[in-house]
Amino acid sequence: MYRGGIATSRVLRINMTDLSHKWEDVKKEHADLAGRAFTSTVVSEEVDPMCHPLREKNKIVISPGLLAGTMAPSSGRLSVGAKSPLTGGIKEANAGGLTATRLANIGVRGIIIEGMPEGDDWYSIVIGKDKCEIKRTNDYAGIGLYELIKKIWKDYPTKPGIIGAGLAGQRLYKCAGVFGNNIENSDPGRYAGRGGLGAVFGSKRIVAIISDDTGGSRPEAKEKERFDEARKVFVNSLNDHAVTGRLKDKDGNPYGGLKNYGTNILQNILSEAGGLPTRGFSSGRFDKAAKISGEAVHDLVDRTKEKFGDKAEGKYGHACHPGCIMACSNVVPYEKTGKLHVSPLEYESAWALGANLGIGELHDVAELNRLCNDIGLDTIEAGNTIAMFMEAGKIPFGDGKKAIELLKKAYDEKSIEGALVCSGTLTAGEALGVTRIPVVKGQALPAYDPRPIKGIGVTYATTTMGADHTAGYTIAAEILGIKGTVTDPRKIEKAELSQAFQATTAYIDSSGYCLFIAFCVLDDDDGFKAMTDTVDAFLGKAVDVTAYGKKVLKMEREFNKKAGFTEKDDRLPEFFYTEKLPPHNVVFDVPDEELDAVYKNM
Ligand code: SF4
Repeated sequence: MYRGGIATSRVLRINMTDLSHKWEDVKKEHADLAGRAFTSTVVSEEVDPMCHPLREKNKIVISPGLLAGTMAPSSGRLSVGAKSPLTGGIKEANAGGLTATRLANIGVRGIIIEGMPEGDDWYSIVIGKDKCEIKRTNDYAGIGLYELIKKIWKDYPTKPGIIGAGLAGQRLYKCAGVFGNNIENSDPGRYAGRGGLGAVFGSKRIVAIISDDTGGSRPEAKEKERFDEARKVFVNSLNDHAVTGRLKDKDGNPYGGLKNYGTNILQNILSEAGGLPTRGFSSGRFDKAAKISGEAVHDLVDRTKEKFGDKAEGKYGHACHPGCIMACSNVVPYEKTGKLHVSPLEYESAWALGANLGIGELHDVAELNRLCNDIGLDTIEAGNTIAMFMEAGKIPFGDGKKAIELLKKAYDEKSIEGALVCSGTLTAGEALGVTRIPVVKGQALPAYDPRPIKGIGVTYATTTMGADHTAGYTIAAEILGIKGTVTDPRKIEKAELSQAFQATTAYIDSSGYCLFIAFCVLDDDDGFKAMTDTVDAFLGKAVDVTAYGKKVLKMEREFNKKAGFTEKDDRLPEFFYTEKLPPHNVVFDVPDEELDAVYKNM
């Protein structure tokens, strides 16, 4: 019987071959693991690194972060892990939404899904307190995700968390992300997007995992008083910081950057810095960046509120999971009606489907994002894949309407173009004869050009995850600055910086905290201490942040090695070394030895 707290949580093991399940105690050696540390450990221990990612030997591992469900601020992230069909290596992708909190409240440390069923049926897994049902739900498959999440909340009025695979995942396409519903269930836009993990759900014939915490209780820290004290200090620290802080200052002016403008505040900042990849990584500056920025979304929300009053659905300062106080998410409304168009429109998505394609119309970018959410696609991978069609001259850069037309072909199961636009940047680029394909380990680059900002290039090249900014977000040091000091983005000695960010990130991805707490804790020593205190108090023991993170990274690296990766896979595509990026006209000139130093010196 679950009484709340990590000591009493359990693991749910589901076998999709014979449609059975069992509850297991958490192994002694896994006692401190949750989130990414849990998913990467189980994948390392139980998945054959050489297996086909879309056949029976692969496993899906799901785990709420350590502090999910507690009163710690912004700590309700969910990790999903498997061998990635996109990179061929180990993968962890995480997201907000309702599922992490629901699972934590009923004492589920992790879910391990193995095997695959015979036949054409589709399934949903319904998890509640001390119960699990594997249901045949063919009516949930083959429909858009907006329709699906409405259907599920109608079938389950207790407002469960939902994660799963959309059309793209059900058809085993490599751009497929794992969707989640948002708090209001109005949008399936909470994506553990990267690595094609939606296709692993599809391979196991799973459309949705539905988690209900009725009868559950909030997990409790081992050292309750210390936890509560640290939590309060951390809340104040986050609220006072200019990036993560409250909506307005004492004079009523906009204050916290994330709450007012979301992550998309970076659109203008990166364009100004000359590091915003534009029109397929051919320029670092986009003349229409302001039109698709967080500031533009903020103004649209205010305009529609003024016009439609209570009927307006647009929002900024929107939380992606219960208890997030940084609330960087948003609801983008239609200009003409004020009704929800898409939620959220984050920086990465606005970049991938906007600047990256030369598209400067906010409505078109939001529509592309909505289509990705409905079809079940990772926006970063989908945007880069559409860029391959533009690079190949199939549709012009900057043509939003043609990009929408192309993406809509994904609904048609018979359309070859529809299949290709869901198949990932590398597959589409090679099929279309493109030689400038921005991928590392098969995964497309995110929204920071590595030529003028070298540290993020070191992360893209070396992380175990394939090109992934969140794996070691050196942008915090190289563009935004830490404690008032900016690390020169052009300096090529970045192995140490990237390694430090990668290790800390692996710890944060395991804690359940959102990575954006980093903006505050890097600046504020008291905030950092309070954050680590919450983790230590929860576990009832001291955890070394760097050692914990490095252990996870080493394990992931080892898995990739066994899957066939070598140091040669820790490189950027050739064109980054040879093509100068305007306006600064620089190439990526970090030597291979510096890249190799990240893991050699770990
Ligand atoms: S800061 Fe943003 S991404 Fe992070 S948990 Fe909060 S709403 Fe979600």
